[in-house]
Amino acid sequence: MLSGWREVTARRPWRISAKLLIVSSVVTVIGFSAICVNVMLDMRRGEEALARQTLQNLATSIESDVSRNIEIYDLSLKAVASNMLLPEIATVSKPIRHLILFDHAITARHFGAIQVFDAEGRLTIDASTLDPLPEDRSGEDYFRVHRDNPGAGLFISRPMLFRGAYSIVLSRRISDTDGGFLGVVAGSIRFSYFHELFERLNLDPEDTITVLKRDRTIMMRRPFDLDIIGTNLNDRQTWKADNLKAGGSYAGQGPVDPTPRLYVRSNGGGPMFVVAGKPLSAVFELWQKEAYRIGAVVLALILFMLASTLVLAREIGRRAEAERKLEEMATTDALTGLKNRRKFDSVIDVEWRRATRQKTPVALLMIDADHFKAYNDTFGHQAGDQLLVGIAICISDSVRRAGDCAARYGGEEFAVLLPDISAADAFKIAETIRRKVQGWSDEQATSTVSCGIASLVPTADLDWSILVAAADKALYAAKAGGRNQSVVASLPKLSLVA
Ligand code: GH3
Ligand code: MG
Ligand code: MG
Repeated sequence: MLSGWREVTARRPWRISAKLLIVSSVVTVIGFSAICVNVMLDMRRGEEALARQTLQNLATSIESDVSRNIEIYDLSLKAVASNMLLPEIATVSKPIRHLILFDHAITARHFGAIQVFDAEGRLTIDASTLDPLPEDRSGEDYFRVHRDNPGAGLFISRPMLFRGAYSIVLSRRISDTDGGFLGVVAGSIRFSYFHELFERLNLDPEDTITVLKRDRTIMMRRPFDLDIIGTNLNDRQTWKADNLKAGGSYAGQGPVDPTPRLYVRSNGGGPMFVVAGKPLSAVFELWQKEAYRIGAVVLALILFMLASTLVLAREIGRRAEAERKLEEMATTDALTGLKNRRKFDSVIDVEWRRATRQKTPVALLMIDADHFKAYNDTFGHQAGDQLLVGIAICISDSVRRAGDCAARYGGEEFAVLLPDISAADAFKIAETIRRKVQGWSDEQATSTVSCGIASLVPTADLDWSILVAAADKALYAAKAGGRNQSVVASLPKLSLVA
């Protein structure tokens, strides 16, 4: 029993409380979740960066293809515009004129034949035929722009029906040496060029490619929708320079359809730019699957951990309660409910050392029932027990300070430890107890107690047994003096506090 009690006391500093377990478990769960969320967000950012890079490469390569073709075509237009100034052009035969003007002109599948219009917009020369039919283009944008603006350079028209096919028209002004307007040279790039270009790419049906002019007019889009071609996005909020810079990206709804996509703009500086888009659901598809999988596993682990923690915490709580009860039982006297002798010994040890450090007095009352043997013999053992309980109540009623310790010291003997109190005050308390017992027992059968009192300021060389011995001696004196009285021990002057 004694060794078990010591084990309990020795283990106490290491005991994990249920609260500590729950708190550490919750902290672990929070930390673990934070790490998981961080890792998943990192993965998400990685997926987004990868998609952005892929779209960026796609948009930029389309833009450079388009720019290169426009540039090549423009070289032909420039050559025609400058050759038109050769004085011989007006005099040579039509086939020779064709050779001079269009010898280096490209004749790829998707490029329309180059045409020359005079200052009134009438078709004068057509690369595809020596005798073109009359045509008047004076009302077209590209004609008016060049007529009114000598510095227009290469003008790219809005997409339009041109000779039975949807095309964009590229044109340049023909000026004489003084800058006077002589006419316009124009050529076209058919939409089939873009269709073929986009078909070569391995794209998902929901992916979009949009080719725009610098003024944000949509020149071409995949998936193809004729209604959108030629639309100017200047009045739309999305894809403005501040949210979709060259080489930049934008996640959200585009200007054409409501599907949220990751849109990335090409970073070239040509006459057109390209925006490649991929639905956000497709960008994060793999990540989402992985996130659900990891999330489910982590959630299961967290739930398991929390459930185990709760079970463990309950068990710890139960054990702590059992230990507390056990400890209480081990330190309490079963009959009277006061502290037992073992507890008293440990309390007096602690208090003695504290008083030694603080140089404060410690008082001790030794209380013994008078003629208790006779009481037992007269009224029986059970009545004797009742009397002991009554005395214990009288004692604990009179001793109320937090540091005081009332204990059953032996059979019918009680000890009361009163830290930081003088012998005179201890005497008053002893008298209170004595009178209480007397008053209480008067109602039943007269029974009294005798008290021995000792109080001293301990020093390092003294043991607490000296205090017990002194109080015992005083008790003996009280018995000898006729019982039912309190006697203060006489101690050497140095340590006596009275
Ligand atoms: P004194 O006034 O000198 O103290 O006389 P006393 O009879 O009280 O002293 P004594 O030491 O001769 O007798 C003590 C008695 O207390 C003997 C014992 O039977 C009784 N006693 C000890 N423990 C208990 C107990 O737990 N219950 C009961 N009923 N009696 C007890
Ligand atoms: Mg006695
Ligand atoms: Mg006794």
